[in-house]
Amino acid sequence: MTAISMKDLRKSYGSLEVIHGIDIEVQSGEFIALVGPSGCGKSTLLRMISGLEPISAGQMSFDDQRVNELSPAQRQIAMVFQSYALYPHMSVRKNLSFGLENLRMDKAEINRRVDAAAKLLAIDGYLDRRPKALSGGQRQRVAIGRAIVRQPRVFLFDEPLSNLDAKLRVQTRSEITKLHKQLKTTMIYVTHDQVEAMTMAQKIVVLNKGKVEQIGRPLDLFERPANLFVAGFIGSPR
Ligand code: ADP
Ligand code: MG
Repeated sequence: MTAISMKDLRKSYGSLEVIHGIDIEVQSGEFIALVGPSGCGKSTLLRMISGLEPISAGQMSFDDQRVNELSPAQRQIAMVFQSYALYPHMSVRKNLSFGLENLRMDKAEINRRVDAAAKLLAIDGYLDRRPKALSGGQRQRVAIGRAIVRQPRVFLFDEPLSNLDAKLRVQTRSEITKLHKQLKTTMIYVTHDQVEAMTMAQKIVVLNKGKVEQIGRPLDLFERPANLFVAGFIGSPR
């Protein structure tokens, strides 16, 4: 089943078009990576999917329903950014529950979701701490936890590991992959790091200058790159 369908999607800032007609289909439960060099439009596209950025032209559908005009909350999407933006004055538990309390969700249900997410992410021992008493990796897990408790139909990640050191990056990478296996929720993962995309994703979309160069499984891109740009990007050392 198709979870997200983009048809001839375009984005302009004033008279400058930065996304030039993109067609992508994301299957339900799929882990898909959007890769490409800095400035190619990855974050813009992700914000268009989330509803944070209005679409200039084209069509965006979730489960065959047009969502062009729907707000982020109506789309039931959760985003994880590279800057975790945790609330510094709140405990980890409060950071996880705050968004749900604003939705006036039942207290018992909130606690159930927070405890389950904390356990899944192995942060259940830190629920009473403030973010500043956590390591970078633990903070990033709280940020992911905040997305999980909302039980979104799609997770969007925008370079979530780029503030972590190399060792932690590799570790968190495999934790996110494991999380996807457990939750089986559709995930769209933006990175400029081709190795990250190749090791994590089931399908990769290669973007360049606001256009799709190729969509395929990691092995397909590696063995049969569509053009010199894809070959150069996938094959380049970091
Ligand atoms: P990436 O995430 O791949 O690095 P972005 O999506 O941030 O790329 O940016 C894509 C292009 O759109 C860039 O040329 C950038 O300068 C431009 N852009 C992004 N946001 C804005 C904005 N708010 N106003 C004008 N141009 C923008
Ligand atoms: Mg970006």
